[in-house]
Amino acid sequence: MNHRTDERPHRRGRAALNGAPWLATALALLLSGCASSPVAEAPAGDSVAPTATAAADEPRVVPQVRRSWRFDEDGIGFDNLLPAARLSAVERLGEGRYRIVVAPETDPINPSAWYGFRVQADAPRALELQFAYAHDHRHRYVPKLSADGQAWREAGDDEFELDVDGTARLRVPLDAGELRVFAQPPFLPGDFERWSARVAAQAGVAPRTFGSSVQGRSLQAFEFGAGTGAPLLLVLGRQHPPENTGSQALIAFVEALAADTPQARAFRERVHVLVVPLLNPDGVVEGHWRGNANGVDINRDWGPFAQPETRALRDLLDARGIGPGDVAFAIDFHSTFRDVFYTVTEDPSRAPGGVLHAWMAAMQAGFDIEEKPSAARTPVFKNWAFCRLGAPAVTYEVGDTTPAAALAEVASHAAHSLMPLLMETQATAAAPDCPAFREFR
Ligand SMILES: [Zn+2]
Repeated sequence: MNHRTDERPHRRGRAALNGAPWLATALALLLSGCASSPVAEAPAGDSVAPTATAAADEPRVVPQVRRSWRFDEDGIGFDNLLPAARLSAVERLGEGRYRIVVAPETDPINPSAWYGFRVQADAPRALELQFAYAHDHRHRYVPKLSADGQAWREAGDDEFELDVDGTARLRVPLDAGELRVFAQPPFLPGDFERWSARVAAQAGVAPRTFGSSVQGRSLQAFEFGAGTGAPLLLVLGRQHPPENTGSQALIAFVEALAADTPQARAFRERVHVLVVPLLNPDGVVEGHWRGNANGVDINRDWGPFAQPETRALRDLLDARGIGPGDVAFAIDFHSTFRDVFYTVTEDPSRAPGGVLHAWMAAMQAGFDIEEKPSAARTPVFKNWAFCRLGAPAVTYEVGDTTPAAALAEVASHAAHSLMPLLMETQATAAAPDCPAFREFR
């Protein structure tokens, strides 16, 4: 999930429109419900976004037109033809200078301003890009660059800057050939499938399809550990398309559970693990900022169950007879502006003696991670896991800019400290009373 905080690396105010105050006012009125407003997010980050709910009136998706742009005068082309690309328009500003225009799939929308495109140059030359976002959204991700789609690097301080007025600029020397410019290195459904197959094979199992997305992509899970009657650890990821660092944390977390170590082997004799690493494949491939192919934030659908992705996972658990008291722990990986764990205020396991309390203490003893509890009010996964399954539940948020090695270290520690706790866990009582969650019954 994403919400604005003061820790945001490139925070800025809403940009004024040059020389047209009346236009700025008119647009501000038009867009006054826009999620990019600095005040739009509630503290816990679980607030229901203005239209990204799974209510009866689904948000209207503006489809991205896949195409290329060619500028013969500079010998440069752009395209949004790659999976996970997002690019809406390209305008030439001058020799080797371009405005890159990016629009989200819906608006209002959570301000996760994902972009991705390919530049093709006929010959080496200088390139300057200015980023502009529809609906006055703001730049979020420092560009990641790759010539081949394999090796990626972050644009350096000498290449990327945010002006005081908030304009993001990238200046890079182009070699002949292609340069990919993405908000984060794309991690696609095929990458998840290869990773899942490898880790599942270590545990002697294979991933299987439990449902289909709106566009018909397979939703995959893999399970390992003790028999299906054992306490269950439920691991979920990538409900939100841009949240790459959350996926990296999920990978390190699950690999620690599946490792060939005495602790992990003992853990797997006592606990059953169900992993769903990618619940929103369509959103990832479409380069969406937030939603599935219907433009719905599926982490606001754990109650309405209006989307096939959320329904499929609910039905998988139902079919397996997993109900209140069967889930020892539920963890849902995301990315935001910093490392923070969202929990449920009413969760009794947050009290001393409880599993969530002990785990949080172990995490905070090793790392600077904030816990932010909030009342179970909105239909996000963790609230559903707590209110309907009685599970200790956490939304594990990784900062957008947390380095890969650091987030993997935290996620491994998360697994190593959780395993002994879950080996001792007892079945919880029936699902708790969640007064504010009742409307989703
Ligand atoms: Zn998220």
